[in-house]
Amino acid sequence: MSLIVKKFGGSSVADAGKVRNVARIVTDEYKEGNSVVVILSAQGDTTDDLIAKANEINPKASRREMDMLLANGEQISISLCAMAIEALGFPVISLTGWQAGMTTDTNHGSARIKKIDTARLRDELDKKNIVIIAGFQGINKYDDVTTLGRGGSDTTAVAIAAALGADLCQIYTDVDGVYTGDPRLVQGALKLDEITYDEMLELASLGAQILHNRSVELAKRYHVPLEVLSSFSGKKGTIVKEVTTVESMQVSGVARDNNVARVSLTNLPDVPGIAFKTFSLLSQQKINVDIILQSIGRGDTKDISFTVTKNLVTPARELLERYRDTLGYEEMIISEDVSKLSIVGSGMVNNPGVASKMFEALFKAGVNIQMISTSEIKVSVLIDKAQSDKAVAAVHEMFF
Ligand code: ADP
Ligand code: ASP
Ligand code: MG
Repeated sequence: MSLIVKKFGGSSVADAGKVRNVARIVTDEYKEGNSVVVILSAQGDTTDDLIAKANEINPKASRREMDMLLANGEQISISLCAMAIEALGFPVISLTGWQAGMTTDTNHGSARIKKIDTARLRDELDKKNIVIIAGFQGINKYDDVTTLGRGGSDTTAVAIAAALGADLCQIYTDVDGVYTGDPRLVQGALKLDEITYDEMLELASLGAQILHNRSVELAKRYHVPLEVLSSFSGKKGTIVKEVTTVESMQVSGVARDNNVARVSLTNLPDVPGIAFKTFSLLSQQKINVDIILQSIGRGDTKDISFTVTKNLVTPARELLERYRDTLGYEEMIISEDVSKLSIVGSGMVNNPGVASKMFEALFKAGVNIQMISTSEIKVSVLIDKAQSDKAVAAVHEMFF
């Protein structure tokens, strides 16, 4: 007998027929004699719709009240799915994040899981119940409802799998697995049978929304075997694990992230300590920067550019305006019309020339590179957003 955690995303529970489909997949697993824990997302576009409703009433609503609202989406899914399983004649119980013992920190809107008290879960499993848990939500030390950030149900699933020592955590979605590029964007994207945690973590962090990046981090840390698969096709999915048996490819995937902005400070004094001053100011305000580019000095000035996620543009602008005299820059230029395009692959370390192949593809497609950043297993470039569709296609074509 195994313990299996299955997570179904919003598109997998979007309507009554799909909820019944989930009930069938879950009960088929249970009939095999396995214990089954199910994590659900909100139905279809429910979370977006709730955010729109909130904006209609108060676009500056507190993050606490936003969490109170958004947690409802998942609660609809779990109760409906439990009803569908009841209708099939199986023992089932649905639980909110709180009832499932999910404690988080107090950071509303992007809370981190602190502890999972599994007593209730184990008790329900001992009673042979199928347990259905609301993803994306928890409770903090003040007994307030929190949410884990968009896409956070994946993280709930992996955290529960780790806490229960599950034999497998399956993430069911609307595509057959992890592909070499977003199959909705890249024609000819190939499905991967296996991918390493590190590669998947890079892809997820660089914009491939197929998995929440923190879910991959947790899976790696607690050695949770992970499978990404479709809730519709019945095909074998992609296994995410420590080491893959397939020979490591130079590049295992291409990802694009449109949730970025570029901030440039021009004509800063070309003296020691300027980068330190700039980035320590930003880090004190918890403004996380990604790619950094500093020009060489011309005369006695230089430029510094960096990227941030779009939600940090306003705080970054306000902060740097306040410290304009201290830093001594001439102009601040902010662009939100940029995209970050990345290639990821653990085979890159031993294959010089991967980056230049990417640059060649971009050159041939007439795409200008604004910034570059590399690590052992990835190369990222910042480009014009309007060119990003064709850039993704060109880079994918070069490697696959
Ligand atoms: P869910 O609602 O099931 O959580 P998401 O929309 O969060 O689903 O994630 C699934 C989507 O991720 C797919 O529909 C696909 O468009 C997108 N995606 C982006 N990059 C990739 C990739 N490399 N492989 C597979 N899907 C990807
Ligand atoms: N419902 C939440 C969202 O849409 C969480 C999730 O689906 O993982 O972001
Ligand atoms: Mg998702």
